[in-house]
Amino acid sequence: MDAVARFKNGHLLRLYGGPRTALIEQMCEKFAGIKTEELAEFDRFSERIRQLASYAIERKTLLYADAEQTFIQTAIESFGQQIAHELHHGDKVVLMNAFQCYLKRMKNVLPMELKASQAFGFNLGIKQIRGAYMDEERKIAKNAGIESPVWDTIEDTHTCYNNNIRLLLKEMKPTDRIFFGSHNVASVELLKSLLSGECLDKKPFIKIG
Ligand SMILES: Cc1cc2nc3c(=O)[nH]c(=O)nc-3n(C[C@H](O)[C@H](O)[C@H](O)COP(=O)(O)OP(=O)(O)OC[C@H]3O[C@@H](n4cnc5c(N)ncnc54)[C@H](O)[C@@H]3O)c2cc1C
Repeated sequence: MDAVARFKNGHLLRLYGGPRTALIEQMCEKFAGIKTEELAEFDRFSERIRQLASYAIERKTLLYADAEQTFIQTAIESFGQQIAHELHHGDKVVLMNAFQCYLKRMKNVLPMELKASQAFGFNLGIKQIRGAYMDEERKIAKNAGIESPVWDTIEDTHTCYNNNIRLLLKEMKPTDRIFFGSHNVASVELLKSLLSGECLDKKPFIKIG
């Protein structure tokens, strides 16, 4: 399996694809201490998420995910990715999954999401933001004695956000949907300039807020 396929398929707890194997349940217990009752709770949660997504399809509306702190965001992001990988086919987009560019890993995650969409033929539904929990993330990391997940300087965050704007606008296809949420003047000017110039053809598929 190559890196893109691993990225797409590396979700331990799945929203789609039938019952879990005993091996997955053992891994949940061994690596994350997840008990049988908690797996039953996850099953109820995933049923509700699938219903919500079906209802959004029926109503032809988009769902927008809120991104939160790292300790919960990787799970939110994983469920959002699984919805996109499963349901975003044909001309369909159901969920705008949130990606926080103040996180160091977004230098890789958004490009990989794009590559996976090209390799596996699903549509992107992306809400790209900088992120709202910087102080809390840094404090949690410091207390745990680990590297902060947030870029060390604001310039690094700006570079990550703006590089992802350029990449996504250049490479996206007409069935993808991308929302850029930002108050930053330089990012909005960059978007305006690309969408009135070399990426003019992408304008109908972009929202800015
Ligand atoms: C419509 C919309 C929806 C949003 N939804 C979410 C959401 O679901 N989840 C979420 O987490 N955020 C969300 N945000 C983003 C969040 O509110 C941002 O923190 C805020 O918008 C500021 O980023 P900006 O892009 O507007 O840029 P700016 O106004 O330029 O942001 C600058 C701020 O970025 C911060 N910053 C980021 N990285 C660094 C760094 N490495 N070092 C120092 N400072 C840094 C500083 O606080 C600085 O004040 C949303 C924003 C909008 C507009």
